[in-house]
Parts: sequence; structure tokens; C-alpha cells
Amino acid sequence: MVSGLLRRCGIGYSGTVKTIGILGGMSWESTVPYYATINRAVRERLAGHHSAKILLYSVDFAEVEAMQHEDDWAGARDLMVEGAKRLERGGADFLILATNTMHRVYPGLAERTRLPILHIADCTADAIQASGLKTVGLLGTLSTMEQDFYRERLRSRRKIETVTPELEDREAIHRIIFEELVHGRLLDASRDRLHETIERLQDAGAQGVILGCTELPLLADPRRSPVQLFDTGVLHARKAAAVALGDEYL
Ligand code: GLU
Repeated sequence: MVSGLLRRCGIGYSGTVKTIGILGGMSWESTVPYYATINRAVRERLAGHHSAKILLYSVDFAEVEAMQHEDDWAGARDLMVEGAKRLERGGADFLILATNTMHRVYPGLAERTRLPILHIADCTADAIQASGLKTVGLLGTLSTMEQDFYRERLRSRRKIETVTPELEDREAIHRIIFEELVHGRLLDASRDRLHETIERLQDAGAQGVILGCTELPLLADPRRSPVQLFDTGVLHARKAAAVALGDEYL
């Protein structure tokens, strides 16, 4: 009884808890759920009054967005490196980059910081494999859907194949992300378009669909989906909490 009481109060946890560095603000609308998810996950594991140790460096998304659309990935990488260094100096033990798209610069970023960085695609791959799926749809920005950095990581490291929508759907999803979701606008017509795209991915062979943009879960309705949806932000955040509490890095 006494130990139960101590546990409810969160007293008695003697493990070392790592400090998570979140490189966020891409967009801030999608960084908000990271904070809540990480803290909830820590509370589930440790109970009582425990919460996560977190440092957040939130960028000005306008700078990042401009570089992405000008195809200045070296500049975008340098912005990420600058943020990572700030988190490093602040005392973070490891980093998460709270966006799928910016994982395009993951290799260059990883080379320039001494902190481990938990890759969002690896956290997602864990969940896909746990569900026993081999082929999944991938939705995200044009960069995430069309470039190799995400699909190739899933294929070469985890043997997970991805299917992406036809061009018209890819462009519609990209537009919805940048013109609506990053501004916090959730429109019914766009939700319909998203779910029509998910259905077309299923027709094309997807057994599940990766919401490979951290804003997409703000719009998606899992009850409407005929296949399992993988919320990359939640999977990333939950793994970060687990690593902070002592789990292995991926
Ligand atoms: N948050 C988005 C993602 O997960 C898109 C914003 C960005 O371009 O970073 O890809």
C-alpha cells in the first residue's frame, strides 16, 4: 500500500531521465502536440507528478519554408544545425527534428552535431513493422513524397515499400499543408480530399498510410480511413519519451 502511494506520487523513480531537445516550429501548429504527447507518455510510465525534461528551440517557419521552396537545402540544413547547437549548449541529451520534410537534411545535420538524433522515419517504421505491414502509402509534402530520403530509408533499412499518390493528389496535399494546415486552418473540403487520396492509395496497394507530415493528423479522421494511419509526430514523440526514460536509440 505504501509503495502504491509512493508510485502514485511519482516518488521512487531513481533512473536517469534524459533531456529531450526538440527542434520545432515547422510548423508550430504541429509542435504543440509533440509537447503534450511526450509529457503524457512520461506520465504513463512514471505516474505521479512526473513529466518530461524538454528543451524546445522553435524556428521562424517563414525562413525554413522560403529555403525549401527555393530549393536551398544547404541553407535549410545550416538553420537546423544552428538550432541543434543551441539545444546542445542548453544541455539536451538527444534531439528530435519535429518535421518529416526537414529529415531531408538529416545526414548533414547528424554530421554537424554530436548529439544523437532520433529519425522520424525509424520511429514510424517500428510501428509499421509491429502491425505486420509491408506496403504503405506515404503522404506529406512534395519533398517527402517525391525525394528518396524518406522512402529509401524505409526500404533499405526496414524493407517497407511505399506508394505515393498521383501528381494531382500530391500537389493537392502539399497545397493543403502549406496554405491551410500550417496556419491552423482545418477545412472540411480538404479533409474530404485527404481521405479520397487515402482511399486511392489503398486501391494502389497500400495496407496502411503514413501521415508523413506532422500537420496531417490535425486534419485526418482515422475513423474514416479504411486502412491504419500512422501519425508520425505521435510515434516520434512517444519514442523520444521512451528513450528519455532509458530505452535504446533506434
Ligand atoms: N511539418 C511538415 C512535415 O512533417 C511540413 C513542414 C515542413 O516543411 O517542415 O513534413
